[in-house]
Amino acid sequence: MPNNDAITTLKGVGPEMAKKLETMGLERIEDVLEHVPFRYENYNSGTVTTAVHGDLVKWSGTVQAEALVRYYSKGKNRLQFRLLLEDRYAVQVTMFNRAFYKDKLTVGTTVTVKGKWDMNRMTISATDLEFGEQSNGLQPIYSLRAGLTQKNFSRIVKLAFDQVDAIPERVPEPIRARYRLEDRMSMLRGMHFPDTVATYKQARRSYVYEECLLYQLKLQAFRKMERSGNGRALTLDKERLNDFVRHLSFPLTGAQTRVVREIVSDLEKTERMNRLLQGDVGSGKTVVAAIALYATVMAGYQGALMVPTEILAEQHASSLQELFEPYGVTIALLTSSVKGKARTTLLSAIRSGEVDIIVGTHALIQGPVEFHRLHLAITDEQHRFGVEQRKMLRDKAELADVLYMTATPIPRTLAISAFGEMDVSTIDEMPKGRKPIETYWAKNDQIDRVHAMVDRELSLGRQAYVIAPLIEESDTLEVESATALYELLKERFPAYAVGLMHGKLSSAEKDEVMKSFAENKTQILVSTTVVEVGVNVPNASAIIIHDAERFGLAQLHQLRGRVGRGAHQSYCILVGDPKSDVGKVRLKTMTETNDGFVLAEKDLELRGAGDFFGTAQSGLPSFRVADPVLDLKVMEVARQDAVKLLESETFWEDSIYQTLRTYLKRLDLLVGERLE
Ligand code: ADP
Ligand code: MG
Repeated sequence: MPNNDAITTLKGVGPEMAKKLETMGLERIEDVLEHVPFRYENYNSGTVTTAVHGDLVKWSGTVQAEALVRYYSKGKNRLQFRLLLEDRYAVQVTMFNRAFYKDKLTVGTTVTVKGKWDMNRMTISATDLEFGEQSNGLQPIYSLRAGLTQKNFSRIVKLAFDQVDAIPERVPEPIRARYRLEDRMSMLRGMHFPDTVATYKQARRSYVYEECLLYQLKLQAFRKMERSGNGRALTLDKERLNDFVRHLSFPLTGAQTRVVREIVSDLEKTERMNRLLQGDVGSGKTVVAAIALYATVMAGYQGALMVPTEILAEQHASSLQELFEPYGVTIALLTSSVKGKARTTLLSAIRSGEVDIIVGTHALIQGPVEFHRLHLAITDEQHRFGVEQRKMLRDKAELADVLYMTATPIPRTLAISAFGEMDVSTIDEMPKGRKPIETYWAKNDQIDRVHAMVDRELSLGRQAYVIAPLIEESDTLEVESATALYELLKERFPAYAVGLMHGKLSSAEKDEVMKSFAENKTQILVSTTVVEVGVNVPNASAIIIHDAERFGLAQLHQLRGRVGRGAHQSYCILVGDPKSDVGKVRLKTMTETNDGFVLAEKDLELRGAGDFFGTAQSGLPSFRVADPVLDLKVMEVARQDAVKLLESETFWEDSIYQTLRTYLKRLDLLVGERLE
């Protein structure tokens, strides 16, 4: 029987069962075979002589004496019989409420029981009994729904293996031979019913490779398709571009120069650019974006910069405005608070090409924004956007080059899985003259000393951010706590002006608050995390973060990045009494390093790969078995193999690659018969 038949064709699976399986997304026999256990229980606790009191055991033996049943009130009963193990040891088996087994347990019958070993009484308190001898191996545990039991499902998997005669191979034979991987049938058998840990490990190896190879094929095919000849090469006037760079108010760092070159060379190529620019907070990504935008405009096209918050959009728009003023480049700001007539005018100016560069929030991709020769689409703080949103911006410009910027470094271990289809540029150098931010951790009862330090900074003419506790469940509570903090600080610092910023303010109000802080009309800014990303006020030299243990490492690092943006020594004070160990480790790690990459690795270690990106921005595939971090090596190998496969002539012709070609075809990644 072929593997892609409907489940109902299995003898022993009726319509009712099929329905249950369907709710789990299992419709074909193949689906059942691929629904591998998510963990195993190891009953392999040795023999009667080696097992220890309390061990979970799974032993087979023959019934030595007729079973006795004792009935209690309320229909409860206890079954008890003697079992001969290893032809030598007689032990007692007790089971509750299984009186129905009594007649089947005739002397000499072979059974396998699972349960807890009571060494003192030589008794197994069994929870499970099966007839016949079962391998003394790992017990598969499946993730199941619709009231299916482990036993039910195991039975169906067995039926499937009994009745299916062949499963098409996916990983081609030469590769399997090279890495000594199993054929698909043995691999799946080994995943479902491993009799030893070694069997399981060998099956897992094969399974992980297959998952990684399929995933990398998809990524690499996507990468090829993205790039393949459907882009547009810009003609750039290098003289003018160099001139622009020379007239910046500071020289670029070596790292900035390098990434600018990488980006410019992408712009000049026919292939589409699909590049991730990562650089720690404050490493100067904005100016790199500005140079790329300038090059684009100079070549006669539009550029767009999408950012996650209105504050940031406004800040970027005004700093670009200032930068581009002398060059006659026009900038427009598009957010959801541009309404009515102003919006209509703006949209038509964008459509007609009157504006060269459009800076905005999600508003850029929502609704009827039509561009005029949009060529370069940049997303700042890309981790704050979902995969879909990033794609929408790209789709706005048919032949666009896209650049994603992020200050949340992607640990090397994840980059290959999550961003494998992109090119990555890294700014790994801070502008000169920056003093590393000093970070301290203060307990709540040391707040007076913290305030004294703020006082000192203010008296030196600096400014300070004070971040109110994060309250995830309630915006209202968060605003209340920020407001309370604001009142308190107004009293504590009567000589200075205090501002208050939170998500419930209108954008005009936010604008006003931000502006007065930027102009040093307010010296202290109490805020919720709305200032987390991108905000740039170089005169601010201190940031106090209350209940810091509630924030994630990446977020703390982002917040800390609000200071240390100018020439002054800056300070970050984390205030909190964390109760959990993870909280303590986080705060301690913050005091130990300013390096975003180190923090990202630590964050990954503390949170695990699944949580690292959060759900919305994930982009990280969910693997059934492979772990993108633990199986990094396999992923790297699979990536090289995928690249080689796609480049080889035989891949498009040889029948051993047929399943892989079909797989790519199903993903819509093949253009015609093959990828160009
Ligand atoms: P981020 O990478 O976090 O977006 P920004 O682009 O906001 O960082 O830059 C942070 C600050 O550093 C800004 O004030 C910017 O003007 C300044 N800056 C950027 N590049 C340089 C440089 N090469 N030399 C000196 N200052 C720079
Ligand atoms: Mg930035």
